[in-house]
Amino acid sequence: MFKSVVIFIGPPGVGKGTQASLLADAFSIPKFATGDLLREALKNNTPLGIEAKTYMDSGKLVPDQLVLDLIKGKIAKIPNGIGFILDGFPRTLHQAEGLDVILSSLCHNVGLAIEFSMDEEERIVRLTGRRLCPNCQRTYHILFAPPKKDSLCDYCSVELVQRADDNEDVIRKRSVIYWETTKPLLEYYRQKNILMKVDASSSIENVFSRIKQIFSELN
Ligand SMILES: [Zn+2]
Repeated sequence: MFKSVVIFIGPPGVGKGTQASLLADAFSIPKFATGDLLREALKNNTPLGIEAKTYMDSGKLVPDQLVLDLIKGKIAKIPNGIGFILDGFPRTLHQAEGLDVILSSLCHNVGLAIEFSMDEEERIVRLTGRRLCPNCQRTYHILFAPPKKDSLCDYCSVELVQRADDNEDVIRKRSVIYWETTKPLLEYYRQKNILMKVDASSSIENVFSRIKQIFSELN
């Protein structure tokens, strides 16, 4: 049984979400991604969800404290002695420090931070090749998972589209910001001696084996 909190760190396109799902299933532990928590709070119209909506509607970032409160609500329901995965949170040093305060108040602690590393050019190829069916939301990749017929959804025959976020200029600009905020975060966990780096450019199976290996060495 895995008892502590695991943090997944990495930019979009490195496959963190896929690995978080695999790991959560393999060890029967919960996983949380802040995007999912926000969507859930909005859908259920919780007080935090309503507050988050006011920021999102005015195009502002949801403040760290609100996200931390959302996570706190989830963690409070997890029995002590059971670990969980945070996928893509914290993103900044400030959030990491806030998270530690919450965790210690609930008798949890971060036991492992995994950095998903990938060559930047490879990550761009992965992201810019993604296509989406606007009708059924199925996803494709022009190199790795192409549709049967040129640029048409296999199921709906609708023309596939590219998300605005998957544009190369957008990715490169965000990457600069990502590294500015992530370097201090990585340093924070490195100093605590709990940072492990995983080569995310390998296959899903290989990356997962590596993560399981790290886990078995911890327990
Ligand atoms: Zn479709």
